[in-house]
Amino acid sequence: MSKKNTSPLALHGGTPVRSTEKTWPAWPIYDEREKQALMEVLESRTWFYGPRVEQFEKEFAAFQDAQFCVSCNSGTAGLEIALEALGIGAGDEVIVPPYTFIATVSAVSRVGATPIFVDLDKSWCMDPNAAEAAITRRTRAIMPVHFGGRVCDIDRLRSIAQARSVALIEDACHSWGAKWEGKGTGALGLCGIFSFQQSKNMTGGEGGAILTDNEDFARLCRSIVNCGREAGMPWYHHINVGTNARLTEFQAALLSVQLSRLEEQTLKRERNGALLNSELSEIEGLEPQPSSNRITRRAYHIYCLRIDEGAFGCSRARFVEACQAEGLPISAGYPLPLYKQPVFKKLKDFDYDACHCPVTEDLCYTSGMWIMHPVLLTEEEDMWDIINIIRKVKENAELLK
Ligand SMILES: *Cc1c(COP(=O)(O)O)cnc(C)c1O
Repeated sequence: MSKKNTSPLALHGGTPVRSTEKTWPAWPIYDEREKQALMEVLESRTWFYGPRVEQFEKEFAAFQDAQFCVSCNSGTAGLEIALEALGIGAGDEVIVPPYTFIATVSAVSRVGATPIFVDLDKSWCMDPNAAEAAITRRTRAIMPVHFGGRVCDIDRLRSIAQARSVALIEDACHSWGAKWEGKGTGALGLCGIFSFQQSKNMTGGEGGAILTDNEDFARLCRSIVNCGREAGMPWYHHINVGTNARLTEFQAALLSVQLSRLEEQTLKRERNGALLNSELSEIEGLEPQPSSNRITRRAYHIYCLRIDEGAFGCSRARFVEACQAEGLPISAGYPLPLYKQPVFKKLKDFDYDACHCPVTEDLCYTSGMWIMHPVLLTEEEDMWDIINIIRKVKENAELLK
């Protein structure tokens, strides 16, 4: 059916499609503006929670179309603080996906509540039907992840959450710049949590933010982030049991510069992602993460791709190995559904051994693959390298058995 590629795979001693001299972008990206911003903070002697934090919060809220932004020192802290601010704790359940970074779920356990895992649908995001079916009298929140920067089915999830009076919390730690029907992620439900850790599409090394349109909720989150203080009250006046999860001025200064590049970078990743989607979906045995016409912007933290080993003609492990040898940084992603992680053996509030989410298990064990976002910040010809690499592997799939 497919014509044989004359050149042998790099894995078998052939010439790689992409020469090792052509590097992919180093991450994070910075220039003189970051250097200058950092020096200004240094010399100002205001190194924590000052005017730059305030300014970044305003900028980020506006960028994501949210009314309020409460910055904090990590996405993990933001998730925990949002749950705490909702009064979620022992005896409560929070519905989460098992295909995500551990923090989505550990945040629930950290506040004493029970994470309830529900599977994904074909979008790599939480299946709204599964979420609806998992709601009990104890459920206090649904916490989907916009996986890879692809916004999950917010309309359905919001109507389920509203009908059952539970909070909808977006784990938006992959979705800076993403939009659902024209509105940015983060305040599509009660609140959304972002991460600015070094691997993310905009970064201050570490950092996080809680976005919301609810002023009272924002005030409570800010108080918890800042030792239980209250705005406008004396420094040693504490009205809540808080913590110290404040962002520094150095981080905020970096983040403002990073944010100024995000629009352009997001459009570039989206353009490149769309080209990969249209070309790779033509290859039998491959399926890019599906879009939706209600997603008016995709963020592409991860370019997600599924392989059907039978239809493609070789195993995922061999595919990844062969692509890497041709010069494409691709990986198999999460090795395990979160409920299989050792930590859940220790938690006695739920029988996690009994969890079974077939879509997630398939992504982890046989089909899921990731290309990280810096790769999408290159030019169209670089996308053609990726497409040609994958076509070459396809043509040689039989030799990879
Ligand atoms: C990165 C990430 C987090 C946690 O963010 P940190 O800033 O690293 O604490 C939470 N959820 C998801 C989906 C993430 O990718």
